Amino acid sequence: MTIVLDGKKLSEKSEEGFKERVSKIKETTGSSPILATILVGDNPASATYVNMKGNACKRIGMKSLKVELSEKTTTEELINEINVLNKNKDVHGILLQHPVPNQIDERKCFDAIKIEKDVDGVTSLGFGKMSMQERAFGSCTPYGIMRLLDEYEIELEGKSAVVVGRSPILGKPMAMMLLNRNSTVTICHSKTKNLESKINDADIIVGAVGIPKFIKGNWIKNKAVVIDAGYHPEKCGDIELESVIDRCHAYTPVPGGVGPMTINTLIMQTLESCEESLK
Ligand code: NAP
Repeated sequence: MTIVLDGKKLSEKSEEGFKERVSKIKETTGSSPILATILVGDNPASATYVNMKGNACKRIGMKSLKVELSEKTTTEELINEINVLNKNKDVHGILLQHPVPNQIDERKCFDAIKIEKDVDGVTSLGFGKMSMQERAFGSCTPYGIMRLLDEYEIELEGKSAVVVGRSPILGKPMAMMLLNRNSTVTICHSKTKNLESKINDADIIVGAVGIPKFIKGNWIKNKAVVIDAGYHPEKCGDIELESVIDRCHAYTPVPGGVGPMTINTLIMQTLESCEESLK
């Protein structure tokens, strides 16, 4: 029987545990963990994502601090704002919502976030540490996927995994996380040749391309584990899921698979950052 990797169910279940941990922090310190979110400009999709993250904080009793900056913000101005939050002892996590407007050097701004507060796992230092299997917060989407794979006890060791996409927040860290768990990983991108045959060999496929239904069902072999990180307005992901659902070993539904795990992981890591600061 095909396993549905249900991110909605796992995120709801883990929120129950988060609520208890937040209550404990409140009882002992009288204060709450705080996630600071930075939104630059007025991209409606980004504003929606920031609101969803704020709502997730609320659900578990944690606070969020919203910083909203104008579309014309410069790299220096954004770094100054990040530094204010870096120094604020009440803030345990910083989320810079991306994409940021074109005039901003996004990498420079991500890397201005203090590693202890990099709960979205976007800094180069955090990526390096995670890759070297040192303690660091993971990039939330791939780490959320790993948590889902572990929840359903999907075997990774010795499996051949193909990650389609190599973005710094998704494809690259995903590949490192699978490699660190002893999968044999191939990373594909827009210049990859013979993508179809690479996917056809894979035991585990992660679609992180950003194009609706780009990965065709008939490229995927029977009994594969199918992870679709994409989410598009037409309520589909990056993989043509409907033709593999009946013959794969496991898959993430869209919606309700990877998406809820991303926010849940952000909240979890903010909570961990707060607990760490109290030690
Ligand atoms: P991105 O930065 O645009 O990266 C897309 C990647 O896909 C790039 O590495 C690109 O290759 C590769 N690609 C593009 N066209 C390709 C082709 N024809 N063949 C093979 N590879 C191709 O996107 P992202 O931020 O990683 O996001 C990827 C997807 O995940 C999107 O659908 C996004 O909405 C989704 N996402 C979901 C969540 C969530 O919480 N559920 C979070 C983040 C992202 P090059 O490097 O060669 O350009």
